[in-house]
Amino acid sequence: MCFLNPFKIHTRHFITVFLLQDQDKEYVGFATLPNQVHRKTVKKGFTFTLIVAGESGLGKSTLINSLFLTDLYKDRKVPNAEERINQTVDIVKHTISIEEKGIKLRLSIIDTPGFGDAVNNTESWKQIEDYIDQQFEQYFRDESGLNRRNIQDNRVHCCLYFISPFGHGLRPLDVECMKALHEKVNIVPILAKADSLTQAEVFRKKMKIREDIKHFGINVYQFPECDSDEDEDFKKQDQILKDSIPFAVIGSNVQVESKGRKFRGRIYPWGVVEVENPAHSDFLLLRNMLVRTHMQDLKDVTRETHYENYRAQCIQNMTRCTHEADIPLPLAIVDTEKERLIFEKDEEVHFSYSFSNFLTYKGNHNSFIHLFLSVAEEDAGGPGEDSGADAAQPERWLLIPYGY
Ligand code: GDP
Repeated sequence: MCFLNPFKIHTRHFITVFLLQDQDKEYVGFATLPNQVHRKTVKKGFTFTLIVAGESGLGKSTLINSLFLTDLYKDRKVPNAEERINQTVDIVKHTISIEEKGIKLRLSIIDTPGFGDAVNNTESWKQIEDYIDQQFEQYFRDESGLNRRNIQDNRVHCCLYFISPFGHGLRPLDVECMKALHEKVNIVPILAKADSLTQAEVFRKKMKIREDIKHFGINVYQFPECDSDEDEDFKKQDQILKDSIPFAVIGSNVQVESKGRKFRGRIYPWGVVEVENPAHSDFLLLRNMLVRTHMQDLKDVTRETHYENYRAQCIQNMTRCTHEADIPLPLAIVDTEKERLIFEKDEEVHFSYSFSNFLTYKGNHNSFIHLFLSVAEEDAGGPGEDSGADAAQPERWLLIPYGY
C-alpha cells in the first residue's frame, strides 16, 4: 500500500511556486557587479611591495630570484670586510613588472644590504623602520591632497625576515628588529638555508623560533582564520601553512639536471636538493602563500591595520599640536612646486569655489571629514599660523576628525 506524505507534497508544491516566481522576476543585472570589479582591477593592474631583512649571506637575494624567477641582483656589489666595519644599512628598491595570463603585477622588492653587517649594529633596523614610515607618510599626504586619482601606493605589504640556521632561535638583533617593525608591517619569519640542517634540526629550530616569538611578544603575520564552510582539504592546507612558521627555505639561482629532469636546485657531493620539492623545504608553501593565497590579505592587513594605526597616530598628533610650529606634520604645508602645480590644475578642473570658501567633503573613511581651509595671508591669527609657512604659499591644511 502506498501512503502519500502530505508534508512532502506541500514542500514540492511550495518549491515549484517559488521557482516560477523567481523565473518571472525581471533581471536587473547587478549580478554582474563582480565581473565589473574584476575587469576594472585587471585593467588597473596590481602592486605588491616586499621588504627583505636579515644579515647578509643568508640567501635573501637568491630566494627572491627563485621566488619570482627573475635575476634582480645582476649589478650587485658585495662590500668587503673593511667596508662592512662601519657599514650602515642601505635601502635599495628593485621594481619589476610581471605579466601572467594577462594579469599585470608591479612587484617592488626592497633590499636592505648591510643589515647586521657592522661591528656595532645598534638600531640598524632604524633605516628599515624609517623607510616604512616614509611610505605611509607619502600615502597619507597623497590621499589627503587634492589629486587623489593617481596615487602610487608604495606602502610595504610584507617583510620576509631571514633567521640564521646556525643560531639557537632568535638573536638579540632579530628580536629588537622584529619588535621595532611588527606594528608597521606584516612580518613573515624565514629560516634560511634549510638544506644545511637535518629534518630533526629544522623541526627543533622552528619550535625554538616560535617559542622566542611568543616569549618576546613579537606579532608576526597571522594567517586569517578559515571560514567554517570551507572544505576539509582547504582547512588541512591552511593548518599545514600555519604550522610551517617559520618557513624553512632553500634558494638557488641555477637550474640543475638530475634523472632526466631539470629544476632549480643545489648539487652537493652526496646528492641534489630541489628548491620546489616539499620534502626538501617550505619554499613552495611560501611562494603559494605570498602569491596565490594571501597576497590580498597581506595588502588588506597593511591598509586596515598598519596604515590605519599610522594615520590615527598622525591625526592625533596633528589635532594636539596644530599650534606648535616645530613639529613636522605631513599635511602642514603644501610646499613643493609640484604639489602647487597639481593643486592649481585640480582647482581649475574641479572647483569653481574661490579660495576663501570652505570646502568639505567626505574622505575615504567615514569617520573623518577632511576640511580644506584657505588661510589668507592677513589671517595671521588662524590655525597653522605658527607653522612657518612661506608667505608666497599661504595655503594650509587641517585634517579634523569628525565630531571635533
Ligand atoms: P644575501 O646576502 O642574503 O642576499 O645572500 P645571497 O643570496 O647573496 O647568498 C649568499 C650565499 O649563500 C651564496 O653563495 C648563495 O649561493 C648561498 N645560498 C643562497 N641560498 C642558499 C640556500 O638555500 N642554501 C645554501 N646552502 N646556500 C645558499
